Parts: sequence; C-alpha cells; structure tokens
Amino acid sequence: MKIRLPFILILCVTVSTFAQAPDRQQFIRTEAPVVALAHVRLVDGTGSPARDDQTIVISDGKIQSIEPAATAKLPANAQSMDLTGYTVLPGLVGMHNHMFFPMGGTPPMYSNMGSSFPRLYLANGVTTIRTTGSVAPYTDIEIKKLIDAGRMIGPKMHITSPYLEGKGSFTPVMHTLFDANDARKMVNYWADQGATSFKAYMNITRDELRAAVEEAHKRGLKVTGHLCSIGFKEAAEIGIDNLEHGLFADSEFVPNKQPDQCPQGVNTSLRQLDINSAAVQETIKTLVSKNVAITSTLPVFEAGGAPLSQSGIGAASALLNQRMLNVMSTDARVRYLQARARVSSQGDFVALLKKAMEFERAFVKAGGLLIAGLDPTGNGGIVAGFGDLREIELLVEAGFTPVEAIQIATLNGAKFLGEEARIGSVAPGKQADLMIVKGNPASSISDIEKVEIVFKDGVGYDSEKLIQSVQGLVGIR
Ligand SMILES: [Zn+2]
Repeated sequence: MKIRLPFILILCVTVSTFAQAPDRQQFIRTEAPVVALAHVRLVDGTGSPARDDQTIVISDGKIQSIEPAATAKLPANAQSMDLTGYTVLPGLVGMHNHMFFPMGGTPPMYSNMGSSFPRLYLANGVTTIRTTGSVAPYTDIEIKKLIDAGRMIGPKMHITSPYLEGKGSFTPVMHTLFDANDARKMVNYWADQGATSFKAYMNITRDELRAAVEEAHKRGLKVTGHLCSIGFKEAAEIGIDNLEHGLFADSEFVPNKQPDQCPQGVNTSLRQLDINSAAVQETIKTLVSKNVAITSTLPVFEAGGAPLSQSGIGAASALLNQRMLNVMSTDARVRYLQARARVSSQGDFVALLKKAMEFERAFVKAGGLLIAGLDPTGNGGIVAGFGDLREIELLVEAGFTPVEAIQIATLNGAKFLGEEARIGSVAPGKQADLMIVKGNPASSISDIEKVEIVFKDGVGYDSEKLIQSVQGLVGIR
C-alpha cells in the first residue's frame, strides 16, 4: 500500500489538470463573441481574384459579413484587428494528412505523432484533415474526440480506417487481408468505431476492393486508394471514390501488367507516357465520368526524388526548411538528411514529377475534382502543416494560378467531404475556419508560409506559439 499511494496521487493530479486543458489559453490570440478582421485582403477559396481592403465580421464562430472596409459597419461589441498588409484565406482542408510519421527500420516502422501533428497542422492553417489511412486508429479516434471537446488543440478530423492491404506489404503496420470477406468485416467494424472513409493499399485484389467499396457505399461512406495492383481505370469501374498520389500510383501503363499484381517498372512506364495520348485521355475521361477525385501529394515525391535547387522544384528553402527541421527530433532529422544525401542529382525524377503535374492539370481541365494533401511519410522530410503549404506552392509550380491552387487545397476538399456548406471558403454563414498570412499569396505564393493566426470556429490561435510548443518532437510523439 505504501508503494501504491504516491502512484495513485500522481495519476489523480494528471487526470484533473488534463481535464482543464490548462495550456490552451496561452496559444489563443483572439477569443471574443464578435471579432472584426479590418482592412484585410481576401482570397475566398472559390478561385475568384483576391479582394483588397475588406472587413470580415466573425460572430459566434461563424462568418457574419464581408464588406469593403470603407463602407463596413462594425457591431458595437466587435473586437477589431487592423490587418493592413495581411491576407485572409479559408483554413486548408488536408486530404492526405496522416497522424503518423516514418521511424526508419527494416522493415520500415511508422508511429503516431499524436502530440505534435495536431498542433503543427493547425499552426500552418490546416483546420480540417482526413487521415487517409491509419496505423493507430483507436488513437486517432480518441484524439478527434479530445479536439472536438476542446481538451486538445488541433484540426477537425475525418477518420480513415486502418489500411486495406493485400498480401505482400512492405511494412508490418498494416493488416494483411485474408480475403474479400475480411475486407467487408474490416469496413463494417471501423465504420462502427467512427471511421468515415477507407484506404485501399498497393496489393489489394479487385475482389477485396469491390467488397470494401460495396460495404462502404451501403453506409454512405467513401473509399480511397493508394493502388498498384489495380490500375486507375479498373478501380474507377469498381466504384472507388478517390485515388491518391495522382499519376505516380497508376500502374495501368506498365506493359503486360498482370491482374491483381503490383508490377515492377511503374516509374519507367510513366516517364515515357504522353499525357495527350488516347490511353491517358481515356483514363481521365473514365475518372471524371465516374466522379473519382484525385489527391495531389506532390511534397512527398519532391522530398524523395528531386535534387536540391535554389528555387522551383527541389527548392532548398523547402527541402531544408529550418523551421521544419527544428520541430524534428535529432534522430528524425539525421535520418532525413541522410536520405536526402542519397537522392540522385540526375534530372530523371524531375521529369517524372513534371509529368505528374501535367496529368493533374489535364485532369482538372477535363472537369475532374483535384484535392490536396502532403503525405507525411516517404523519406521523412515531409512534416505536418509545413508540407501542406508546400503542396500549394507545388500546385502553382504545376501551372495552376495561386487562387486556383488555394481552391484545390480548400473548397475542393470540403466538396469531397460533403462539408462545403460549412467550410472550405470564406463566405457569410460558414464556420470561421481561416488562416491569416502576412503578404499577398495571390501574387506571391510563397507568402502562404507566413501564417500568423489561424481561426477555428472563430477562435484565433497563435501559429508561432503552437510551433514553438512542439520543437524537437516530430519523430518522438
Ligand atoms: Zn499516404
């Protein structure tokens, strides 16, 4: 008894302070019933041009009005912020935003970053995420509950199931499906626990994918996939709702590809591909006609393959971003820098990345819904939040205008989630989920990195304080 008493006391203290979330207040910049963002430039997320010198009134967590500052009438009780020189954008809707990070090892291991990632997503303007595959699904679900209850700081979360993977996975963090019936069981079990989407992975068979899609659709839920054993067109015919990673994950152009097998040589086949060829155009047409969205995840490919350059793709400022390196543990930083040192200086990979960008532009031009995420995996150089901002810069590099790139990363994701009536753009009646950046990303996209305040449901969080609170933690927790 003597031994156990102090333990019980410690536990009680921990539990009671946790329930009060004592450190929440220190990260809040603005919390008032009515807030006015005065003299701010607005990029509203719809793809419309920026509007200068606006005043936006937030009331009870929602956007109440948007008017030119010159004629706007402020409510008497409004707490007003002069945002001359700043731009307001919708909070980002991150659509390939895992809660986990690569930990190295052979075979590779991945761990949940439940302490650092939620803060880093929010700090960098990401107010909504879809987890797009999980290695710790119960943890993700409980973190979502804590965030929704105000007991943890982070984005709104849409939970994706553990991976639906077939035989031959390269990592043991995924369950290997026994058969199609196992896929049905998994979908229903995780839907009961709170998953709202499902992630098929590289070695799934057509029968297993068909079973998963059937069960998910019965419940009004969606299936996405990072595929290899199944080509894009085949997956669209089966009824998948979303394909991850754009062109990089399409194996259907490998000569003599065998059904249900992930072939060798996908990159080679893609490098030689003509996006204007009949075969590629046919795939794009099928995806668009079957309403299959594509998730662009350019940062994970840039970090893994593009040689260092001063600007553009492979920019040293992005790949060796000091603020990003500072939130990593020493171990994670060393592992990433060693992996970077092995990246070839050949231009082959940049050619492939440019091909993937061309595919994404062609898909949008054909009427397809392109959504955006970062995918914080690969060689460990893509970190929550920082990667989401880099994705927008890379979309501009791909040829989208800045306001189009911002729309892909905001309103398009909200549309896919069926949440566009509430989030995804800055409009009266919507939730006040906003990011405020210094400068003008509509003319200079790198200004999007200058995030200062992020509003979620009308509460304004201090971006820098959140980032400071997790220094050295990525790769630990
Ligand atoms: Zn992923």
